[in-house]
Amino acid sequence: MRFLRMEGPYNLNSETLKAKVTLTSPGNYAIGRESEKGKFLVGYIGRSDSDVRARLESWISKTKWTHFKFSYAASPQAAFEKECDNFHDFDPPDNFTHPERPEGTNWSCPCCKIFG
Ligand SMILES: [Zn+2]
Repeated sequence: MRFLRMEGPYNLNSETLKAKVTLTSPGNYAIGRESEKGKFLVGYIGRSDSDVRARLESWISKTKWTHFKFSYAASPQAAFEKECDNFHDFDPPDNFTHPERPEGTNWSCPCCKIFG
């Protein structure tokens, strides 16, 4: 089974973001859509190292995806490792490349050897 381990899905708009994502925090998110049966279908996953709400806000009107899920992360590294997990588990259609680690870090992907 694949799990995003995120809260939602919610409608991707400013009002909902402000209501649901209340902390300024590193975090993870998925954007996607709901199937006719109400199942969340992942279109793209990502993270923010500082403010997951601001990152989601920046997607509004730039994406066809209508819904989001999110989770807070204890640290930027935790957000990175979860993003890697989500990327490998879901292989989302809009994620064309492996998640990047921030410059100057030696973090490695928990799932593959891309960073040697
Ligand atoms: Zn990987």
